[in-house]
Amino acid sequence: MAEMPATVMICGYPYRIETPTVDSFVNGKFVDGSISYHDLEIQIASKQQPLFERATLMHEIMHGLAKHTGTTLSEKQIEALAYSLVTLLRDNPDLVVYLTN
Ligand SMILES: [Zn+2]
Repeated sequence: MAEMPATVMICGYPYRIETPTVDSFVNGKFVDGSISYHDLEIQIASKQQPLFERATLMHEIMHGLAKHTGTTLSEKQIEALAYSLVTLLRDNPDLVVYLTN
């Protein structure tokens, strides 16, 4: 499987992608990922299964897309879109080539 990129462009903003080794918790709940619009940084918790890790990254990217386009999406909508998009892209490599070339 491919390595996680070091950065991702979201609406023209270059976000660093970090994988901290120290687990993060909010209100006692493990945090799989987070995004800081101020620092232009996405944190993805390490030790996730590869496919889940990709969905987590897409989830945080969806938050960034919503933020920078002024779109209001619920956590459930973001979750559904993130899983759907990762699956769509994974299942259709020819589509990815077509869309990006
Ligand atoms: Zn979220």
